[in-house]
Amino acid sequence: MDVLTTTTPTAAELMELEDRYNAHNYHPLPVVLERGRGVYVWDVDGKRYYDFLSAYSAVNQGHCHPRIINALTEQAQKLTLTSRAFYNNLLGEYAEFITRYFGYERVLPMNTGVEGVETAIKLTRKWAYKIKGVPEGHAKIVFVEGNFHGRTLGAISASTDPDSRRGFGPFMPGYVVIPYDDIPALEEALADPTVAGFLVEPIQGEAGVFVPHDHYLPKAYELCKQHNILFIADEVQTGIARTGRLLCCDHFGIKPDILILGKALSGGVLPVSAVLSSDEVILTVKPGEHGSTFGGNPLACAVAMEALKVVEEENLAENAEALGHVFRARMEALKNKRPDLLKIVRGKGLLNAIVIDDTEDGKTAWNICLELAENGLLAKPTHGNIIRFAPPLVMTREQLDECCDIIEHVMLGWK
Ligand code: PLP
Repeated sequence: MDVLTTTTPTAAELMELEDRYNAHNYHPLPVVLERGRGVYVWDVDGKRYYDFLSAYSAVNQGHCHPRIINALTEQAQKLTLTSRAFYNNLLGEYAEFITRYFGYERVLPMNTGVEGVETAIKLTRKWAYKIKGVPEGHAKIVFVEGNFHGRTLGAISASTDPDSRRGFGPFMPGYVVIPYDDIPALEEALADPTVAGFLVEPIQGEAGVFVPHDHYLPKAYELCKQHNILFIADEVQTGIARTGRLLCCDHFGIKPDILILGKALSGGVLPVSAVLSSDEVILTVKPGEHGSTFGGNPLACAVAMEALKVVEEENLAENAEALGHVFRARMEALKNKRPDLLKIVRGKGLLNAIVIDDTEDGKTAWNICLELAENGLLAKPTHGNIIRFAPPLVMTREQLDECCDIIEHVMLGWK
């Protein structure tokens, strides 16, 4: 396509353009979006869809939430970035706000989710040497199989997904990976005195919305306490009301020693992540030892404060909890009608997945998603035969009913 063309490009041309010049590290559905508002997105031809991915749970507050966009545009006209070489007038206010909001002593602000994970890993290692007394260079961190913590080498070194790892070694030492939802395996791993942290997603989102047994996280937390090990929760995807509580850990009555947040911290408006913890952990890092050009920038501070206020004032956790029950009940009923096609329904709040009986190695789930899109609902398969359903949390009961009707229509008519 000629980039200087003055006519409006078609969807096909835009896809071709992206394929031609962009890296091929994603495999998107053939839909070209240009606008979003609340639970809806529109493609370049003006077709409207319900967004059931919410940018992997970054858009919990809905697309282009007017209050968040207002905070963004107001702040963008005053000051966007100073670097941390100087103080800015919003970082202190934001730090106080977010620490009170989540009940922690301190925050370390970063940008993307994976930077939050890297930061948590670095803090854990520092804490191991300075506070726990692990000999320098020997600290270990325990992870679980099926995890997803992002795409840096620090994160993929913990991954058990061959697609994430293949061709990217050598990997980070000091990692121990054990089966998920398996207390005896954890008990054994934590007995090693050089283990400093246990890093876990309370529900495994990317893996396909795997919810552990109710006793798993409380018991894991208790074991961490027994062995003086930091319990680190990666709530980048599960946090900020997605699962029907402010944090997914709230379902299990535990408060992580280190909490990692990202995605919906900005309502999907710009990359904002945060690591929250105690003075003891966060103050192990001194000036010059860790940082980020954009971390704690005034634009991010203004946006994140507004995004968190929206979550609270619009009762998004309560809405996610209530609608989640409706959604899973509808999907269970559908499963009873099409047990040949729909095998499993699982999730919490509005983080849910269905498992498709897919004898064609992922083709069925992909084709179902194509037909859902034709019917005005966007969802994407993960790991072949799992379809994740995670709409914005500002959805109404009527909208959810309509979405369930669409899914039902597609699945019941499936040949
Ligand atoms: N951690 C979890 C649990 C995630 O789901 C993700 C992204 O999907 C990340 C970390 C990485 O976040 P980001 O893509 O913003 O780096």
